[in-house]
Amino acid sequence: MSHTPYPDSYYAASANPAPDRPALQGDHETDVCVIGAGYTGISTALFLLEQGFRVTVLEAARVGFGASGRNGGQIVNSYSRDLDVIEKQVGPQQARLLGEMAFEGGRIIRERVQRYAIDCDLKDGGVFAAINAKQLRHLEQQKALWERYGHTQLELLDDRGIRSVVGTERYVGGMLDRSGGHIHPLNLVLGEAAAVESLGGIIHEQSPVVKVQQGAMPVVFTAQGQVRARFVVVAGNAYLGDLLAPLAAKSMPCGSQVIATEPLGEEMARRLLPQDYCVEDCNYLLDYYRLSADRRLIFGGGVVYGARDPANIEALIRPNLLRTFPALRDVKIDYAWTGNFLLTLSRLPQVGRLGDNIYYSQGCSGHGVTYTHVAGKVLAEAIRGQAERFDAFAALPHYPFPGGRLFRVPFTALGAWYYQLRDRFGG
Ligand SMILES: Cc1cc2nc3c(=O)[nH]c(=O)nc-3n(C[C@H](O)[C@H](O)[C@H](O)COP(=O)(O)OP(=O)(O)OC[C@H]3O[C@@H](n4cnc5c(N)ncnc54)[C@H](O)[C@@H]3O)c2cc1C
Repeated sequence: MSHTPYPDSYYAASANPAPDRPALQGDHETDVCVIGAGYTGISTALFLLEQGFRVTVLEAARVGFGASGRNGGQIVNSYSRDLDVIEKQVGPQQARLLGEMAFEGGRIIRERVQRYAIDCDLKDGGVFAAINAKQLRHLEQQKALWERYGHTQLELLDDRGIRSVVGTERYVGGMLDRSGGHIHPLNLVLGEAAAVESLGGIIHEQSPVVKVQQGAMPVVFTAQGQVRARFVVVAGNAYLGDLLAPLAAKSMPCGSQVIATEPLGEEMARRLLPQDYCVEDCNYLLDYYRLSADRRLIFGGGVVYGARDPANIEALIRPNLLRTFPALRDVKIDYAWTGNFLLTLSRLPQVGRLGDNIYYSQGCSGHGVTYTHVAGKVLAEAIRGQAERFDAFAALPHYPFPGGRLFRVPFTALGAWYYQLRDRFGG
């Protein structure tokens, strides 16, 4: 049987020990079968197990093989599109619920880390950095908007303020979110998976789901086994492929690339990021970076539409790193990897049901570390019969990419080119 290993990333190289879980064999029955062991799947499984459900998770490769084990590690509040856009799309009651949930994911992560003693280098504090005055004005508006929803741990930074937290001349100001922060993303999901198993949950790795048979008691098939369940949760996100046509129709997998430098030493690390906050800039095609526990700079950016793997990741990302930190011109890059997130046209997550008993959440469009943890809670609530918060997400309208599936990549690449120009000229 084929065995899919982790990609060659800094995270895989510094992962906490984890067992190789056996592939699914034979016929099984459970309450909930979850497809995909990233944050969405594992978080849902954990909430359900805490409520007394029996849960089996089927993962095509390894726990955290997808975006959850490869991302920038940034705990960023809210969604890829902000609450003002949501307010225009749904009624006031749903907007209120979605607004409150926009700041819940970071709390869930911290609770989980504490309750299950997860060793994932959790650090507090995230910075949004403005490259021009227009972006800084936008951050002022964002602060006011988030404060309206009760999120008050925010501080605007002027040019001196931003230089006290990021050692570069690149920014004109920024906003510090004290409830943001960063983690070793693979170790977070590995720790959550161990928590799932500590509560009696079952995880099978190397078990790609090849078919889902809908019905009163759906059946999930892998090459060598099947699971009958009262409910199915689909959490394959950008790696799901065409398993369920309705989920593929309104979304597009995209790649983002990350590099990890050699360890920089304490002095250089403190020059770059004196408070050890994580940073993302305000461009549409954004740079995001932070320090690892062993003082490497983990720097991400770039978007490849259609999730093709770029040939030379270092060549793609290094210029962005040097634009921000020219002092690193001779630094060695120890690791470079790519991962896929799922883009929707609105850049808001897609949450819903196929029939009565197949639930899904996908498409958080780049900002998913916090959202996926909220999604787990909301899906578990809905399966338990409390669907108010699930319905608030499900009410968000979604549209197919213009031109249909074949044209999704060129269309969106054109959009990206437009945003790149806009970023560059501060439009
Ligand atoms: C490079 C990169 C950097 C990012 N940086 C950040 C960041 O700093 N902050 C932030 O908030 N967000 C970030 N994101 C987004 C965030 O990582 C994702 O939104 C989030 O991890 C999605 O989690 P998920 O569980 O929904 O999907 P994934 O983590 O992708 O998990 C899906 C899992 O499902 C499995 N699967 C798929 N199909 C099947 C099948 N048929 N059978 C069985 N299993 C299947 C896959 O193997 C995979 O393990 C980044 C994304 C990328 C790619």
